[in-house]
Amino acid sequence: MSQQLITESQQVTSAGVTITNLSKSYGDNQVLDNISINVKPGSVTALIGPSGSGKSTLLRCINLLETPDEGTITVGTTTVEAGTRVSDRALLDLRRQVGMVFQSFNLFPHMSVLRNVAFPQEKILGRSREEAEERALTLLDRVGLREKAHQHPDRCSGGQQQRIAIVRALALNPRAMLFDEPTSALDPEVGLEVLAVMRELAAGGMTMIVVTHEMQFARDVSDHLVVMADGHIIEEGRPAEIMANPVQERTRRFLSAVL
Ligand code: ADP
Ligand code: MG
Repeated sequence: MSQQLITESQQVTSAGVTITNLSKSYGDNQVLDNISINVKPGSVTALIGPSGSGKSTLLRCINLLETPDEGTITVGTTTVEAGTRVSDRALLDLRRQVGMVFQSFNLFPHMSVLRNVAFPQEKILGRSREEAEERALTLLDRVGLREKAHQHPDRCSGGQQQRIAIVRALALNPRAMLFDEPTSALDPEVGLEVLAVMRELAAGGMTMIVVTHEMQFARDVSDHLVVMADGHIIEEGRPAEIMANPVQERTRRFLSAVL
């Protein structure tokens, strides 16, 4: 099924994501301090760290929901450099290539599940309604939610809503996906359904950056683990190694709280 989900969603290949010397402040509060991360095409990076360490801000900077103060972001062949004027074209290119899934699903409440998945394709990619809805139905089918197509999101469980949010992002053919604690709002059992879809995406070769406290997922699925604290990367490396043998005291404390 993994190949199917990715084949169905990917008409383009996954891209690498490179973040170089990224910094971001809100007023006097420096939230990201000189962050560099290189995510190879088709690989999965898990991002962990205490609350307030800057994980969400980092993801939001990658698809330019936030404007970084310094640094560069490269997705595939598109590079955006902070402090320089970013052309609308580059901004659009970068946003189109990066799909994002939030903790709180963020589905459109007034639209059916089908329209939730089809509408962005029409708006952003200019697909016809027919084409977008056909694609939406195929993808919903892949995650077992075709029968929900004509319901509203509030008639779906949290786990279903999150799978719909993933499918909505996938329908736009992203070359990389960002996940910000996608299972934190879900009961553990329901979270597993969402993690299963993410495992499929990873197996299918999607480039992913995943903020998560699901350490088993991080260990099994991610190729690289990045630990953040206070806007810095304090430790990074192979997930199993860091979990077994954290070098930093701060990492050790964090892991003992979540493992
Ligand atoms: P994490 O996701 O690791 O919990 P965040 O990126 O959400 O961390 O937040 C990092 C820091 O940035 C926190 O101190 C938070 O209060 C601050 N912050 C985040 N977003 C904003 C914002 N829009 N305006 C001001 N401060 C913010
Ligand atoms: Mg966060």
